[in-house]
Amino acid sequence: MTGQDPRRRIPGVDRLLDRPWCRELIAAHGRSWITARLRAVFGDMRAGRLPVPGSDEGFASLLREEVARAGLPSLRRVVNATGVVLHTNLGRAPLAEEARRAMAAAAGYGNVEFALDSGRRGSRYVHCAGLARELTGAEDAVVVNNGAGAVALALTALAAGRGVVVSHGEMVEIGGGFRIPEVVEAAGAQLVTVGTTNRTRRADYARTIERGDIGAILKVHRSNFAVSGFTEETELAELVALAAGSGTPVIHDLGSGLLIDSAALGLPHEPTPAESVAAGVDLVAFSGDKLLGGPQAGVLVGRAGAVARAKAHPLCRALRCDKVTLAGLEATLALYRDPERARERIPALRMISVPAEELRRRAEAVLAGVAGQARGTGEGGGGGAAGEPGPRLAAEIAEGWSLVGGGTYPDARLPSAVIRLDAGEDADAWLAVLRAHDPPVVARSRKGQVVIDLRTVAPHEDGIVAAALRSIGAKISPGG
Ligand SMILES: *Cc1c(COP(=O)(O)O)cnc(C)c1O
Repeated sequence: MTGQDPRRRIPGVDRLLDRPWCRELIAAHGRSWITARLRAVFGDMRAGRLPVPGSDEGFASLLREEVARAGLPSLRRVVNATGVVLHTNLGRAPLAEEARRAMAAAAGYGNVEFALDSGRRGSRYVHCAGLARELTGAEDAVVVNNGAGAVALALTALAAGRGVVVSHGEMVEIGGGFRIPEVVEAAGAQLVTVGTTNRTRRADYARTIERGDIGAILKVHRSNFAVSGFTEETELAELVALAAGSGTPVIHDLGSGLLIDSAALGLPHEPTPAESVAAGVDLVAFSGDKLLGGPQAGVLVGRAGAVARAKAHPLCRALRCDKVTLAGLEATLALYRDPERARERIPALRMISVPAEELRRRAEAVLAGVAGQARGTGEGGGGGAAGEPGPRLAAEIAEGWSLVGGGTYPDARLPSAVIRLDAGEDADAWLAVLRAHDPPVVARSRKGQVVIDLRTVAPHEDGIVAAALRSIGAKISPGG
């Protein structure tokens, strides 16, 4: 064979399709897709991107790799080792077991818009509304696709064609292009700003409302940044009292939707929907997947008349959420009937409360797992022959901090114990190795160190982190 072009060893597609290993793949994935994968592999061989194997088994393993690679879904489960609890890029809140079960059950048929007692058509909007009322004290509630949608719906339903009064200090951008001035404009309302960046008083609102044609007052919770120093803002209850005189509705864009006392999480005060309702606002908007810890959704609670106007608006139909989301949100809300239980069962709340000592113990166990098997056999693949001393990762456990994330608690640092790997110039490459693991592990790097924070890793996933770290060990040669 010497001197011969190896590409001449590439067999005909039909010949390989008849092999038992190929028939197995066809049984699992279908003939047309496997044929296409085979052609892709042959194409790579002809182009010199893949070596041409010398044996039938070599072809089999290349095709299996191609099938595994091309068959990966686009949206994959990942292990979040960043320590950012509500990581928007990683899907925000991980859901409680109760929510996951309810969502799986709802994936079939359900009484989404069907009244089981009468057998007639029902309303999608009844689901979750009772629980939302119960937990916030509001007269009524409606659930839509996300928090931004809830704000847009509230503004559109109550204030389209009229002015919306917003404090200068609350002209915020939430992230993902959600900017208050643009949302007001998109709702077909005119923005009327009052006060200054650092101070807005009751009298500022009062003067503007007197001038007339105001559809709503919008108060925005500054959830993702902090102001300090010479500041003043008008309390919600004061605004409500002021607006009542002219019959102007007050909308509160609250953001997070924490349903328990933040003190129970060891965090500074975060306003709750119940507080806004008690203050007398007409509509409060909050997210389902921030500190509430449920699926992506937006909840509007408030006065019955205001909620009815929101439900009657065509935008509500455009923003409606699906049965699986409703089921997950309902199961999550149900956990809040007992706040203690909510804190134990809802992963985002539980993760926020995990003490640093516990994270340190888990980090020690993970590192012991890495060291114990670094010189072992098999796993990690290609790290060196069994019995050969394994490469060592320079790893240590250090004090660090985690973040709440999701645009909430911008200043809160949760004390943590993190695993730090000295990667030097290779930090990005090592992060890529962790992401190439199955399932991918997402960590962060800081000044040449790869940082793993187990706060956001479920304890049953610690073994995955250890295995991913071993795969870094397997990639680096002994002695650097
Ligand atoms: C996050 C947030 C929103 C948007 O909610 P999503 O669920 O992300 O759409 C709106 N307002 C405030 C104050 C927020 O913090």
